[in-house]
Formats: sequence, C-alpha cells, structure tokens
Amino acid sequence: MSVRVVLFTRDLRVDDNPALAAAAASGDPVVPLFVLDRRLLASSFAAPNRLAHLAEALADLHAALVELGAGLLVRHGEVAGEVARVVQETGATHVHLARDVSPYAVARRASLRTALPADVTGHAHVGITVQPPGTPAPATPGATAYRVFTPYWRAWRALPLRPLHAAPALLAADGVALDGPGPAHLALLDRAGTAPLRSRGGLVAAERRLSDWLDGPVDDYVTGHDDLATDRTSRLSPDLHLGTLSPARVAELVGEATPGREAFLRQLCWRDHWHQLLSATPSLATQDLRPQGDDWRDAPDDLAAWQQGRTGVPLVDAGMRQLLAEGWMHNRARLTTASFLTKHLRIDWRVGAAWFEQHLLDGDVANNRANWQWVTGTGTAGHPNRMLNPYRQSRRFDAGPYVRRWVPELADLDDVAVHEPYGDGRLVDVDYPPPVVEHADARARFLADRGAE
Ligand SMILES: Cc1cc2nc3c(=O)[nH]c(=O)nc-3n(C[C@H](O)[C@H](O)[C@H](O)COP(=O)(O)OP(=O)(O)OC[C@H]3O[C@@H](n4cnc5c(N)ncnc54)[C@H](O)[C@@H]3O)c2cc1C
Repeated sequence: MSVRVVLFTRDLRVDDNPALAAAAASGDPVVPLFVLDRRLLASSFAAPNRLAHLAEALADLHAALVELGAGLLVRHGEVAGEVARVVQETGATHVHLARDVSPYAVARRASLRTALPADVTGHAHVGITVQPPGTPAPATPGATAYRVFTPYWRAWRALPLRPLHAAPALLAADGVALDGPGPAHLALLDRAGTAPLRSRGGLVAAERRLSDWLDGPVDDYVTGHDDLATDRTSRLSPDLHLGTLSPARVAELVGEATPGREAFLRQLCWRDHWHQLLSATPSLATQDLRPQGDDWRDAPDDLAAWQQGRTGVPLVDAGMRQLLAEGWMHNRARLTTASFLTKHLRIDWRVGAAWFEQHLLDGDVANNRANWQWVTGTGTAGHPNRMLNPYRQSRRFDAGPYVRRWVPELADLDDVAVHEPYGDGRLVDVDYPPPVVEHADARARFLADRGAE
C-alpha cells in the first residue's frame, strides 16, 4: 500500500472532485494538501477579497475532509518544493491534482514534475471546467481551439457530461498531522481592504447559493440576466472560480429543461470556451489576440475617476462602485465599464483587467482577460469597433434602481435625469461630476483611432 497526495488548488470541494475521487478509489491512504503559494501571495493576484474567500473555502474544505476521515494538510512556501517535501515525509508514490489552464498553473505543473522524484507518478485530472480544454476538438484542421463561440457551443452541448463523483471515504496516512488551516495560515491570508458587502465564500455558502438559484430564479434567466434593476443572475462565479462548486455538477443539475436553464448552461459554456482558448493561446492573458493598432492613453486622472466611480456617467459609476462595495459586478455593468475605459477613455484593457482582478471575488485569468479583450475588440468579437453608449445601456437595462442604489447622490432625480444628469443641457443641483468625456466626442475619437470613421 502506498500513499497518495492530493494537491488542491482551485478545486476546493470534496463532491465531484475527480482528483480526490481517483486517489480515494485506489484504496491507498490519502494526504489532502493545500500549499499557500508564497509567490502568489506576494503578487498582485493576492487580492484581499479573493484571499478572504480562500480562507473561508479552506476552512470548509478541512471540515468536509474531516467528515470523510482525513483533514487538510496546509503548508506555506514554494508549491513544488512543498509538495516534494510532503511526498518525502509520507513516502507517497502518487500526486493527484486538477489540470488548470492559466500560464501560471501550467508552469506550476511543470515545476512540480521537475521537483518530484522520478518514481512518483503525477496525475492531472479534469475538474476546473465542465469539459476539459480540447474537448470538443476543433473541427478546423490544424486549429488548437475554437475561436468562435457558436460552433463551440453547438459541439459542446452535444457532448455527454462525464459521470459525477460522490464525495469519497478517505483513509488518512499515518503519522501526518492533517490539521487544516491554522491561525498562522489565516494570518497570511488576512489583508486590509476587503469589500464591505462581499459575499461569504466556502462550500456551505456555495451550496446554499446553488440550491436557492435552482429553486426558481434559474427559470427566469432569459428575462432576468440583463436586468440590472432586479439583479437576477446566479452570483455563482466566485464559487466556480475557487471550485467550491463543481462546474460539471452545476451543469448536470441545471440541465436544459426550460429556456432559462438552457440560457444559463450557455453561460457555463462561455466559461469553458475562454478556458479552452487560454489553454491553446496563453498569450491571450497579456497580448492582443487580434491587434487593432491601439495607441493607449496615459491618463491618470481619467483612470482614477473610472476606478473610484466618479466619471460623471451614472451606469459606469454605479458598476465601479458596486465592484468596490461587493467585490462583484453585474455582467451588463462589466460590459459597459470595460467598454467605457477602453473605447471612451482609450486606456489599455490590461490596466482595467488588473483593477478588476484586484477587486473581483471571481477574478480569474481566463474569464477576465478574454472578456476584456472581447469588449476591447482585440479578442474574438465579431464587431471590434462596437462601442456601447453607456446612457443607452442605462436606460435599456436599468429602470433606475441600480444607479440609484450605487450612486445615491442621484437618487432623487427623475427617471430621465437619473441615467444622464447633464443630458440636454440640464443643470443638476447635486454633488456629482460632469462627464469626463462627452459620448459624441469619445465616439469620434475612437472611430478615428481605429480608422473606422
Ligand atoms: C470585462 C469583463 C470581465 C469579466 N471578468 C470575469 C472574471 O474575472 N471572472 C468571471 O467568472 N467572469 C468574468 N466575467 C464574465 C461575467 O461577467 C461573470 O461571470 C458574471 O457576471 C458572474 O455573475 P453570475 O455568476 O451571477 O453569472 P450568471 O449570469 O449567473 O452566469 C453563470 C456563470 O456562467 C459564467 N459566465 C457568465 N457569463 C460569462 C462570460 N461572459 N464569460 C465567461 N463566463 C461567464 C460564470 O461562471 C457565471 O458564474 C467578465 C465579464 C466582462 C465583460
């Protein structure tokens, strides 16, 4: 009998965790391990909101593992070195982990292979997405990924879902103290500046959100998903990001029985789509997929106005303030704020993506970077010069409550002025700045920049 290490990364669950299930199915003792990655904790990706969710997720994961017979071993350091040390301490002969796609995760897997003795077998499992990158395989000869969503969606939905794995019973390896994240570990994750209204992370909260969502709202998703005023999306993105929910299990539970469920499944497919694209094209994270010759402005005052929600454009400010308050932003507001930064203000999408990653609970490389490129028109979007009019977006997708909630200084304005306080030469007697740029001027500048007048 040998010992197996299961290295958790962002698959922080016991239910339908293929890496954990495979290790347990062997009948060997299992050491569930999480390494607080020293390099990641020192990087800009260690954002307060996500670290807070990570702390909650690790605590719940430990509790769930204890129920199964083995707690979580938590170490702090350089990941490959720490795993190699645990392998040596336990005499493990197998290491299991989920196969992730970001450039950082790919490099981590490679350094793990180098650090482990040759007689230790590594196993990389599915589990981060519904379907693993490369499945479905692109139909175009020579292509490594689908660039266009609709054919991907068609092929993706025709695939069977893999069988789900129930939480296994575990046998802990003798002599290893599996005692979960202790106060010293939690202190490493504690950062000032978490969003005051952030949701709670971890398995228990995630399961509650999922069952509330499946209990009804999902069936209204077609009409609800774009409605800023009533806020009717699932808010499962942070749970999918840290893997406290299995995307395959969510897909199975959702099914396609109603138009709402089908539309929701399509969004899960978008998530897979970006992951398979990043897996095939790692440069997507930092470089234009389809450069448009943009000459980005260095405009610190405009950037600060955007970041703090003081642009004078209500929907943009509402979205940016929601981000600071909740660590989350509605998708329609993400589209509008990102379009405003890159197309109205002509500020580099990478600057905006970094700000989102500093604050979003769900901030992840594939979804964030690919969506920013999509909005900017440097990615896979069919209309790269499409520019969202933030006033029209506001009138169309918010009856008023969204802007009134997040920009309270506008709360008493009428239903017209609340979306565009300075429109039609109106003079507004509130402490709210005029727009940093007029829409018509911004549009002319953008189209001229892109040579698309
Ligand atoms: C500029 C920009 C940046 C974004 N950054 C991120 C990010 O860092 N992390 C992230 O998870 N999503 C990101 N999104 C996608 C989307 O806005 C969020 O996934 C969604 O708003 C999360 O809320 P929800 O869970 O209520 O979504 P729902 O509408 O309930 O959708 C269900 C799930 O589908 C997935 N999904 C939905 N829309 C998209 C999409 N456009 N692309 C990929 N997956 C999607 C998410 O996992 C989401 O949880 C970004 C979108 C834009 C325009």
